[in-house]
Amino acid sequence: MQEHAQDAMAYVRHYGRPDLFITFTCNPAWDEIQELLLPGQSQVDRHDIIARVFRQKLKSLMDFIVKYEVFASVRCWMYSVEWQKRGLPHAHILIWLYNKITSDEIDDVICAEIPRSDIDKDLHAVIIKNMIHGPCGALNSNSPCMVDEKCSKKYPRAFTANTITGDDGYPQYRRRSTEDGGNSAAVHIQNGVIDVDNRWVVPYSPLLSKTYRAHINV
Ligand SMILES: [Zn+2]
Repeated sequence: MQEHAQDAMAYVRHYGRPDLFITFTCNPAWDEIQELLLPGQSQVDRHDIIARVFRQKLKSLMDFIVKYEVFASVRCWMYSVEWQKRGLPHAHILIWLYNKITSDEIDDVICAEIPRSDIDKDLHAVIIKNMIHGPCGALNSNSPCMVDEKCSKKYPRAFTANTITGDDGYPQYRRRSTEDGGNSAAVHIQNGVIDVDNRWVVPYSPLLSKTYRAHINV
């Protein structure tokens, strides 16, 4: 990881700050993994399958972004792969584009809201399953993100009526409240079902989420 961090700094010095940061996490529920497990096995028994399928998916994702230019034409990119304790790999991907994404284009590329199920049922299901943070805090104080009784990932985020770019250059994505036309959805947690709203959505690309059906934070 140290080595990659140094590579990343060298890229930043040369190309400036990346335009997209993407975290792509292996989804053990992918058909390609489930179909290869023998009866009685779970994914923790088969790191070999997890590693192989994830590598293929990551290659496909990078082709999708770089060769097919789904966002815009890519100037350069890099990624590093890490394995979590429970045995699921994830990749940190940095993308530099030739043309920066302008503030009025951001909402077309990145979203931090629960999609409407009557408009896109499939996307709605993928987002509810993969892109809702926690819940943590008072709703679930045992969540792994909790450090000193606070969410280390800063959820729930504040409602925001429109996407705004902060002084630090990082956008604050639109997260409308239910009073303002935002959606909410029922999510299963350990002790039952709770209703979550847009404050809990991890920013995602609708296109990438629908194509790869995994946790892909953009
Ligand atoms: Zn949290």
